[in-house]
Amino acid sequence: MTKITVKRLPKDPGPAAWNRILPPAPEYSPLTEDIKADWVVVGGGFAGIAAARRLAQLVEGESIVLLEAGRLADGPAGRNSGFMIDLPHELNSETYAGAIDKDLQQIRLNRTAIDFARDMASEYGMDAKVFDSCGKVTAAGTNKGIAHIASYKKHLDALGEPYTLKSEEEMQAWTGSDFYRFGLFTPGVVMIQPAAFIREAARGLSSQVKIYENTPVTSIEEERVLVTPKGRIRAGGIILAVNGHVQSFGYFPRRLLHVFTYASMTRRLTESEVKRLGGVPDWGVLPADPLGTTVRRCSDYSGSGDRIVIRNHATLNQSLEASDRNLKNAAVLQDRSFENRFPMLKGVEMEYRWGGRLCLSWNSVPAFGELDHRIWSACCQNGLGTVKGTLSGMMAAELAVLGESSEMLKEFMDHQKPRMLPPEPFLSMGANLTMRLKEWQAGKEL
Ligand SMILES: Cc1cc2nc3c(=O)[nH]c(=O)nc-3n(C[C@H](O)[C@H](O)[C@H](O)COP(=O)(O)OP(=O)(O)OC[C@H]3O[C@@H](n4cnc5c(N)ncnc54)[C@H](O)[C@@H]3O)c2cc1C
Repeated sequence: MTKITVKRLPKDPGPAAWNRILPPAPEYSPLTEDIKADWVVVGGGFAGIAAARRLAQLVEGESIVLLEAGRLADGPAGRNSGFMIDLPHELNSETYAGAIDKDLQQIRLNRTAIDFARDMASEYGMDAKVFDSCGKVTAAGTNKGIAHIASYKKHLDALGEPYTLKSEEEMQAWTGSDFYRFGLFTPGVVMIQPAAFIREAARGLSSQVKIYENTPVTSIEEERVLVTPKGRIRAGGIILAVNGHVQSFGYFPRRLLHVFTYASMTRRLTESEVKRLGGVPDWGVLPADPLGTTVRRCSDYSGSGDRIVIRNHATLNQSLEASDRNLKNAAVLQDRSFENRFPMLKGVEMEYRWGGRLCLSWNSVPAFGELDHRIWSACCQNGLGTVKGTLSGMMAAELAVLGESSEMLKEFMDHQKPRMLPPEPFLSMGANLTMRLKEWQAGKEL
């Protein structure tokens, strides 16, 4: 291999609120010496944690190191809405047999990843508020949203997947809000407190995996020597679990889309505000319209208080950095979404506002596989990284240690390469205009 210079290190806009509302995290010190390791996983998100755990299961006795550029759970892994979704995000709009088979295959793979995370949760003693197998509701507040749910329901029927419907009254009793007119519940989703999940998974793994925080990889020299600011590691094998930043390592040029999405979290609600809101203490809804608003209501966990989280808005930022203006635009939309849903909480301010990186490919496939001799990629989760990151991390470890041996791995690898993107500035202009148009079309669902 030729020397790799890492062009860009991750920069995350705003605070990782899910991490901030927890008590201070235990620190893993940075690497400050030159060492050797049989395996090095780069990136401490869902993919990195899963790759490290699967390696620990497969190569007992070999040394495994995990390097994270910043603090664990401060990156996208601690910034997401915490839905571990078993069903494909958008079910195939076709109901012919081939399309159904593809969806069923995706569901099987997603559920394997969720079970892998569930085993971690149980082995490491995670609280039910950190890993909750409670299912999810897709909710609609408009006729258009209701039509989306009707089409989703048709596809669930074709797949033989179970669901129940929630009337307007049931939605109000559950959420406290009279915004939602209809809901569809599916039981296979897990809701996590994403930052707590990452922290606790790392704590559980740390007896088998040596973790270094604040240790960005700045280059990889010949013979797999990873260079970080204060130390170097000679690695037997490397798994890159850095999602879109795999491009900063020089791989998949012009094949990855770097999308930011944004969220706001309220301050702690007072007891009287909680009473005024009504509904149950913990719930989450995904929007029926793909460009609509995700909402979570969380009760206290470890002193975090009762809060509401609103997520919407997406921008394409091929620089891998979002601007202050992106955050401000998102804040305006999120305040409006909050007011529309929670008029009884008028005056409740947002304490945290943030954005986070997603990585997508044009043809919705992962950036996966062996990139160079003994360097593997577990990247590009196409927006659903809690599950797909976990899956690609597991699969990269299996590929690295066992080769293409399992049926599951063969199924996972049965896809094309990420497709080449249109040139700039057409790509960014076109994608951002399309997203703005779709947000506008989402209307009140936003
Ligand atoms: C607001 C928001 C809501 C979301 N909601 C959901 C949701 O409900 N469900 C869902 O499934 N997904 C959701 N996502 C997406 C999800 O967070 C990501 O897809 C997921 O975090 C990707 O996991 P990953 O492990 O592949 O990458 P990441 O979580 O991005 O982890 C990669 C890590 O690599 C580190 N890194 C990068 N470069 C280097 C380097 N040079 N050296 C060392 N370390 C490096 C980064 O610091 C980072 O911590 C959401 C995202 C956002 C922003």
